Amino acid sequence: MTVSVPATHTDGNGVSHPFKRHEHGFGTRAIHVGSEANAETGAVIPPISLSTTYKQDSVGVHKGFEYSRSGNPNRDALESTLASIEVGGAYALAFSSGSATTATVLQSLGPNAHVLSVNDVYGGTFRYLKRVASETQGLETTFLDLEKASDDEILAEIRPNTKLIWIESPTNPTLRLVDVPRIVSLARSHPSSPLVLIDNTFMSPFYASPLLQGADIVVHSLTKYINGHSDVVMGAAILPPHHSELVEKLRFLQNAHGAIPSPYDCWLAQRGAKTLHLRMKQHGVNALAVAKALARNPHVEEVIYPGLASSPRHALARKTLSPHARKFVDSLPSSVASTPSSSSTDLSSEEGGFPFGGMVSFRIRGGFAEANKFLSTTRLFTLAESLGGVESLAEHPARMTHGSIPPAERALLGIGDNLIRLSVGVEETEDLVHDVEQALEIAVKGGKTA
Ligand SMILES: *Cc1c(COP(=O)(O)O)cnc(C)c1O
Repeated sequence: MTVSVPATHTDGNGVSHPFKRHEHGFGTRAIHVGSEANAETGAVIPPISLSTTYKQDSVGVHKGFEYSRSGNPNRDALESTLASIEVGGAYALAFSSGSATTATVLQSLGPNAHVLSVNDVYGGTFRYLKRVASETQGLETTFLDLEKASDDEILAEIRPNTKLIWIESPTNPTLRLVDVPRIVSLARSHPSSPLVLIDNTFMSPFYASPLLQGADIVVHSLTKYINGHSDVVMGAAILPPHHSELVEKLRFLQNAHGAIPSPYDCWLAQRGAKTLHLRMKQHGVNALAVAKALARNPHVEEVIYPGLASSPRHALARKTLSPHARKFVDSLPSSVASTPSSSSTDLSSEEGGFPFGGMVSFRIRGGFAEANKFLSTTRLFTLAESLGGVESLAEHPARMTHGSIPPAERALLGIGDNLIRLSVGVEETEDLVHDVEQALEIAVKGGKTA
């Protein structure tokens, strides 16, 4: 009995594709892997396969699909794309949200495990760790500032039952950076040898390749940059070739929970992923320009963007860049990576720098009133939660995305009332710079000219 496998269906995500993982560049793989022309009709774009069930020729003999929860051509195709663009990946599993991905990975740790997590982890991840996994599986979590903690401090927090180190880098919204290779080597040096996971949502597979730095699992909220058009909620986990056993476990849970994405959403996210490299380059160029404009603006107290030359995280940010992002950054003309106007000497700190994703945070001079005025005065930056879409968004972490964190803890994390987070989109650079400048002028000076 042979099982014939259609061109769009691949075993273990992309293994049998004509576009091999390392032969072609990032953008080529994003466009072609998982998008081979349909064998039956020649359709260049994969059809959306809505069928929930699949004909079997005799019992157990099918074309690789039985029931759409356990496998679907569009989900398979998207998973192939993701395994290919998250460099170092061999397997990808898509879920109905980033949060469902998180829940599944944490459930796979089993009962009474311990997790060491970066302290300003995504709010939904914090909630699942503290209020769900703690109750349902006795999971304990230690939150630690993995940017500042010394090697000894980190090792001291790894327990015999520590199964996982959960990292986000940069963190949200203060864009702290964690040195992934350092954490990986600490994890490997400890007898518990916990897995190291990176939530790579903020960087996207374009700017950072944590699997190449030794991470065991990368997760993404595809809702953000990978889909990139603010019209799909979805998540994924990507794992390297040596973790096939863990992949089996996660696949089992993916099917058992059924928190799977719809074929239509998979199709949309795959379409989005095809332009990830183009969008991420522009997000980065725009974010750098906006960060520089903020840095020279008198109404701004502090700008947080690791790509700025003046950022204390500048060197680590450069180390964090994926090979393809480094190539992009190195190819930029100095006019992009240097400040446009250098007439005044106090601008020197803003020269240089490089694109490092699209997220910029800053502290406006003043308090909530000024922040709120800024957020309601921008014309292109829309006041809304979320990030990673082509359109620019702005938000107030203390009262929006991070509102559920107690004020004292927020203060410790540096999330004050004057902190604003920007998701810089891919509109024209000068339009975004102008929008931020005009809103600052009105917000801080009350619309009066100096
Ligand atoms: C949005 C987000 C998530 C959660 O993803 P959903 O798709 O909203 O469930 C997890 N991590 C990070 C860093 C995020 O930004």
